[in-house]
Amino acid sequence: MKETKLIWMDGKLVPWKDANVHVLTHTLHYGAGVFEGIRCYETDKGAAIFKLNEHIDRLFYSAESVDMKIPFSNKEIVKATIQTVKENDLKAGYIRPICFFGYGKMGLNPKSAPVNTSIAVWPWGSYLGDQAVKVKTSKYIRIHPKSAVSDAKIVGFYANSILASIEVKNAGYDEALLLDYEGNVAEGPGENIFIVKDNKILTPQAGSILPGITRASVKQLAKDLNIEVEEKELKLEDIYDADEAFFTGTAAEVTSIESLDNKKIGNAAPGPITTKIKELFMDIVHGKNEKYNNWLTYVNE
Ligand code: PMP
Repeated sequence: MKETKLIWMDGKLVPWKDANVHVLTHTLHYGAGVFEGIRCYETDKGAAIFKLNEHIDRLFYSAESVDMKIPFSNKEIVKATIQTVKENDLKAGYIRPICFFGYGKMGLNPKSAPVNTSIAVWPWGSYLGDQAVKVKTSKYIRIHPKSAVSDAKIVGFYANSILASIEVKNAGYDEALLLDYEGNVAEGPGENIFIVKDNKILTPQAGSILPGITRASVKQLAKDLNIEVEEKELKLEDIYDADEAFFTGTAAEVTSIESLDNKKIGNAAPGPITTKIKELFMDIVHGKNEKYNNWLTYVNE
């Protein structure tokens, strides 16, 4: 990880090396923190943050789901995020806001534990590389929607994602795919999945997944390109038989899937529709498409 200068902690910017917490931080033990992953991109007008408001809204939604009262307003966190990118002179990279139950209370009930907030930023290139990826279905399923609030981004959920990632990476694959409790396709450990079949785009419905902000953006782009999009239950066979498949996510952006469980998907990855969506998405995030300029927050404005 490339260090930057400053991390925003509870209202002020502190040097990177001083952004520390106590070992008895509640979230470190029990996982009831909430976080976001956001990207900022280089544009002609300087750094621009992609869908900042949507990410901060989701952060507050996630906090509500664990009854966490963030001691800052939504607007203050938006402002702090912009300030952190600016003060670090970050041109392009990753932004990680996290709110967590802090030091001073142990035991499962976090009530009366302090709530701490930090925002770190660092340069970060593509997450899954620029090539199409080889994916394997994990033996772990995505957390049951009745075991948790699946559409919240809660720290502890990521043990599920990490188990799936470790399993498939140890077996030589690039990324995992998790099914839901009914055996339907859910998502990757940190990505949503889409397929293309007969020129139509399909993706699993919300329910067991984290319905991503990139997923919503891609759905919008597909509609604008006059490509039909449907949310639908998908089985593994639907992915094996697809013409194209791709992951979406803040980290993964739009990443083509070459194969699933050693079965090649379509004729060549990336396929034509994946390429079209990816190119449009990458133009937008780099501020090259006026129509979608309101998806970006320019830090110098
Ligand atoms: N699913 C999971 C489990 C994730 O962690 C992420 C990354 N936040 C996504 C999907 C994609 O969401 P987004 O497009 O909002 O980054």
